Amino acid sequence: MTTIENGSEKRELTGKRALVTGGSRGIGAAVVRQLLDAGAEVLTTARSATSTVPEGATFVPADVRTRAGAEALAAAAQELFGGVDILVHNAGGARPYPGSSAIPDEEWQGALDLNYLASVWLDSLLTAGMRERRSGRIVHISSAAVPASTGPFLHYTAAKAALENYSRGLAKELAPFGIRVNTVSPGRVATPGGEATRELWAQLDVAPAGQDHAAVPLGRDGLPDDIADAVLFLVSDRASWLTGSNLFVDGGEFPRG
Ligand code: NDP
Repeated sequence: MTTIENGSEKRELTGKRALVTGGSRGIGAAVVRQLLDAGAEVLTTARSATSTVPEGATFVPADVRTRAGAEALAAAAQELFGGVDILVHNAGGARPYPGSSAIPDEEWQGALDLNYLASVWLDSLLTAGMRERRSGRIVHISSAAVPASTGPFLHYTAAKAALENYSRGLAKELAPFGIRVNTVSPGRVATPGGEATRELWAQLDVAPAGQDHAAVPLGRDGLPDDIADAVLFLVSDRASWLTGSNLFVDGGEFPRG
């Protein structure tokens, strides 16, 4: 949304500093692009830079699966931007296995680190400034597959379930400080990570439940911008009375409510 103030154009997030994890491709890159379009300054990260990091964003390589990686990223956000007003935890994923007992210990731990603890670490490091300013917006990206706890992804859906529970509690804790915390749960979205994962899943010797976009009532896979639209709404003032929510953006595949 653009308004005109004193004769000059003011975009909706002008003056806001945002950090988006996993902004080198897929959903994260779409969120970065939309934040930039809305006037925010954007810092983003992935383990390595790619040509698909949106132009205009500041890129810092980091591995958020470790506490040290999260600390280095938070320090970079402080040094480069002086803190952040908007935090979008998008980096996530896991590879599928034929069943829960086939998932190695390190994959259970890795799924928890990337899909849950990375958010806990970054939130704890970056909300101090938000508390002082009594303003902030945090979005955690989960998955619409969490309630179904799908077999080949139990390590992933269990970690995302922990993230959702944590996100609800954090929303209550931070509301008195003017900080809003929400979750977005994407369905089947056409991204490099999503496509590669579904391909691996199809190769497993298990029923490929939910593998076909024919299962999506709106008749198509989601686009990264479908998810970014929801994130942009949640971090905007249009969502000023929304916290602790979990917005399912899934083409109607997992009806809620
Ligand atoms: P992609 O795999 O396409 O992109 C993931 C991004 O995260 C990349 O930029 C990747 O870069 C980065 N990333 C991965 N691991 C790390 C790490 N350890 N540290 C820092 N950055 C990392 O994923 P999607 O866009 O498909 O998914 C984005 C989010 O949406 C995830 O949380 C996913 O779980 C969720 N989601 C996606 C769905 C889908 O169908 N696509 C469905 C439901 C949920 P690099 O590899 O270089 O580090």
